[in-house]
Amino acid sequence: MTAPTYSIVVPVCDEEGSLPELERRLLAVMEKLDAPSEVILVDDGSTDASARLLAEMSERDARFTSIQLSRNFGHQAAITAGLDFARGQAVVVLDADLQDPPEVILEMAARWRDGYEVVYAIREERLGESTFKRLTASSFYGALRKLSDVDAPADVGDFRLVDRAALEAFKLMRERNRYVRGMFGWIGFRQIGVRYTRAERIAGRTKYPFSQMVKLATDAIIGFSTAPLRFALKLGFVLSSLSILGALSAIVLKFTGAYTVPGWASLIVAVAFLGGVQLLMLGVVGEYVARIHDEVRGRPLYLVRETHGLGDDERSQRSRGLERPVSEGESSLEGTTSAHRA
Ligand code: UDP
Ligand code: MG
Repeated sequence: MTAPTYSIVVPVCDEEGSLPELERRLLAVMEKLDAPSEVILVDDGSTDASARLLAEMSERDARFTSIQLSRNFGHQAAITAGLDFARGQAVVVLDADLQDPPEVILEMAARWRDGYEVVYAIREERLGESTFKRLTASSFYGALRKLSDVDAPADVGDFRLVDRAALEAFKLMRERNRYVRGMFGWIGFRQIGVRYTRAERIAGRTKYPFSQMVKLATDAIIGFSTAPLRFALKLGFVLSSLSILGALSAIVLKFTGAYTVPGWASLIVAVAFLGGVQLLMLGVVGEYVARIHDEVRGRPLYLVRETHGLGDDERSQRSRGLERPVSEGESSLEGTTSAHRA
């Protein structure tokens, strides 16, 4: 089989309700694309029937490949796995819940043909998302833009098309706590956005509860900014200057006999406040240290348990960073070293 021009990467976690419709819509879009395409379905440790449905999809149509991760590694790792396996010259990342309408891919492909290397989708409107999610999202992107040196466009998720050259650049970044959309912002290249209306989820519910949103936001800020560390430094300067001033004025007041600071309550308040600030700042530093720890351990970004729909030669070629080739049905490959070997 010759390599397809387009690859569509779909991370899937417990989406059994969306998959039949996803397959229909993808097939219709693939029909309309101007060149051959493939779909890489990544099962991110689903606990429902998703894995089986994905395997069946790859049996029905040779253009569909399904990759089963050994457990849930998270959305960002699942995207990474799919990108590692994609062979196309233009590679699209798409959510399985059909919030990102596959039809937008046609417009992205047209921009790619115009010569753009990264075509990201801008959420013009978000249907069926709570006011809370919209508010937290918009304030988060605002804060991130201020804090980081990366120019991440607002209202852009992971739905995007990337050219092979941009993808190879992205694959050089094997950091563990990943914020994929920021990483694509960081690589540069010729980028452009297309606008779309983000639909409602067609089935199931979001896998990004508040705690996951906080984790993604922390990864984004810590991965792309050292502002929190600098803030600790600045706060330290301000507080120590204030305390020197306070001490000086207390001494002056005492020796001039103007006033003797009585002080128990003020002392306790000051000590407790400083203790709190110190712990807070230690926590900030800890977040960076924990990420250094993750990097030093150097564990793979994901592990593959099984693949369906990869040909034999492809399997050995595409067993990214593995010591031994992957075999169908029983396979294990890791996603950490592909960039060095590719
Ligand atoms: N997803 C995944 N692994 C996870 C969580 C989510 O592969 O741990 C997939 C999920 O199946 C969907 C996409 O990532 O295709 C986006 O997730 P979701 O729709 O829950 O996020 P939201 O759109 O609510 O931000
Ligand atoms: Mg969704």
